[in-house]
Amino acid sequence: MIGVTVLGATGSIGVSTLDVLARHSDRFRAVALTANRDVERLAEQCRQHRPRYAAMADPESARRLHESLSDMPDRPEVLAGIEGLEQLASLPEVDYVMAAIVGAAGLRPTLAAARAGKRVLLANKESLVVAGALLMRAVADSGAELLPIDSEHNAIFQCLPANFSDGLHKVGVRRILLTASGGPLRDWPIDQLSAVTPEQACAHPTWAMGRKISVDSATMMNKGLEVIEACWLFGTDTDHIQVVVHPQSMIHSLVQYDDGSVLAQLGNPDMRTPIAHAMAWPERIDSGVTPLDLFAVARLDFQEPDLARFPCLGLAFEAARQGGTAPAVLNAANEIAVAAFLERRIDLPGIAAVVGDVLAGFPHASVEDQGLEFLLDVDRRAREHAERLVGSRVD
Ligand code: NAD
Ligand code: MG
Repeated sequence: MIGVTVLGATGSIGVSTLDVLARHSDRFRAVALTANRDVERLAEQCRQHRPRYAAMADPESARRLHESLSDMPDRPEVLAGIEGLEQLASLPEVDYVMAAIVGAAGLRPTLAAARAGKRVLLANKESLVVAGALLMRAVADSGAELLPIDSEHNAIFQCLPANFSDGLHKVGVRRILLTASGGPLRDWPIDQLSAVTPEQACAHPTWAMGRKISVDSATMMNKGLEVIEACWLFGTDTDHIQVVVHPQSMIHSLVQYDDGSVLAQLGNPDMRTPIAHAMAWPERIDSGVTPLDLFAVARLDFQEPDLARFPCLGLAFEAARQGGTAPAVLNAANEIAVAAFLERRIDLPGIAAVVGDVLAGFPHASVEDQGLEFLLDVDRRAREHAERLVGSRVD
């Protein structure tokens, strides 16, 4: 039996993970489930999946979870706080850790899983954006496995040869073609973007996801974060990654080789495919996803991304090229700006404005030989800076 910890069990990826896991209960066992504040859903998941441990990042929610499970026979031990999450990511009886917390809040438990040598199933792209060097080093040092869950990166992983870590140029890769749906605002009149509501921004045409990543898809910051994620995962740089808008979201990304071949991975847009792939790798298991019907799809379209409409994508490329702390600053500013947009404190174009100002006004540093505490401090200061800018836009 493979023991699994699901970090962020109550979210969109967490729920899909538990669905795949339950289809293969002869193979996988949920050892630990974690969430932030959603006591009701985590309690329900504990009753259904009977983990040995549960944890909530918010201590008051952990107390309420403990109380609400008091009548459960063999109830899970409930831990609290970020330390509780780190502990459950590194349990000896756990083999795989699904890293599905949203935002930089996922960094510490994801890093704990990597340091403990687990198979890390990485959905939490923000942890690579904030601390790519640190996380990749932890994986190499401990012998952990890092398998991408983000559909594009999972697709690229599937299209690359097994020895891709020797260097993409050595294995004959010319470039990575990273697909993007373009989100719900791809054809929205550009002069009306300031009127977009959080509901409209979250109404993604092809994927059902959590609210933060949905807004990131509407601004295409999500693709920008994914460019940075791809650089770390596949040991490449922005010159070897092209973003391709593909509205149908059937091709999840492609790899172009020196000999003219282009390999793609296709499938219906359902995160259970990359989750099942990474959980079973190198084998294949059923994911519950409806098989792709190419006659129903009928056509596939491709466009170049419009950087005037999606300035966040350009900012992310800029941060990727700067390197050092720039991606961490970009991510922190974006998290604050997206939260402000969801709270209707700023408009949609305000997100790129805040991120651009923070990126421009923040001193950049190299991250060589810098540890977690240094990065968390950069993250905290960039958030404070972004909060001040949000405040000044609101006043
Ligand atoms: P979500 O908002 O649906 O769920 C987030 C989960 O994280 C919840 O379980 C929540 O309780 C937990 N969480 C939130 N804040 C926390 C904190 N401070 N401490 C501890 N736990 C916390 O998000 P999601 O859509 O499932 O996305 C999760 C991650 O996966 C994100 O990094 C996202 O970019 C990535 N991802 C998601 C999808 C998708 O289809 N949803 C696709 C690709 C990548
Ligand atoms: Mg993605």
